[in-house]
Amino acid sequence: MGEDDCSGQVDGGASFSMEHMAWFYYLARICNHCTYPGCLASCPRGSIYKRPEDGIVLVDQGRCRGYQECVKGCPYKKVFFNMMTGTSEKCIACYPKIEMGIQPQCFVNCIGKIRLAGFLSTPDKANPDNPLDYLVHIRKVALPLFPQFGLEPNVYYIPPVHVPQAFTSQMFGPGVAEAVKTYRNAPNDPDLSSLLGLFGSTEMIIPRWKRQGDWVAGMDEKGKEVVRVPLREPILIRPAYDKLYQISRTNCP
Ligand code: SF4
Ligand code: SF4
Repeated sequence: MGEDDCSGQVDGGASFSMEHMAWFYYLARICNHCTYPGCLASCPRGSIYKRPEDGIVLVDQGRCRGYQECVKGCPYKKVFFNMMTGTSEKCIACYPKIEMGIQPQCFVNCIGKIRLAGFLSTPDKANPDNPLDYLVHIRKVALPLFPQFGLEPNVYYIPPVHVPQAFTSQMFGPGVAEAVKTYRNAPNDPDLSSLLGLFGSTEMIIPRWKRQGDWVAGMDEKGKEVVRVPLREPILIRPAYDKLYQISRTNCP
């Protein structure tokens, strides 16, 4: 699976039309910490385990003998063999941070603020106050990658809107059309758009959320507010020429 491939030559102006004949997008993939991990099942040493308390899948570096069966067994290609140590390694979901109630580092560092980490309930116990339950189970705007593999991956993606759905549906399953429709309508959907505004707003895991008018709050389990952001960010347009200091703030005043 390529992550940087463009499907063809982009014609002039094509980027402004829907859907594109040629398209390109990044899919930032980490280990899915699958409910039924193929890596774990394929290890003859029993070196891979899934933590019952948080579902994180780890390679026991002390047990691993570098047979690399897990590299083959993960259809998402998320286990790597370290030739220096002779063991297999993978994403650890930044478990020391999770244990402290903090989101993993790649979630916090993401300058595009596209990630939100937390704990998902099973569909029968979906709670609209839980931001992940709301996105995945209730609004169904975030979908699993290649659900047909049957491993029940636990990373969910809002599918790209400019890519032909014949392609994205084989990646994210049959819910793509509805997810794209819901996402494209987010500007008219204050609950969904405000929740998206909580992405990248805090380092803490926020198991609860609530919109109050033009504000949205992320809270801890006890309902204590952790972060609050406006529904719409204020926009300030500074004049190119600053009369007070008699300077131009852009290269092209
Ligand atoms: S994505 Fe691959 S490495 Fe990660 S838990 Fe699933 S099968 Fe294992
Ligand atoms: S930063 Fe943490 S969660 Fe992200 S890929 Fe690395 S180990 Fe996994």
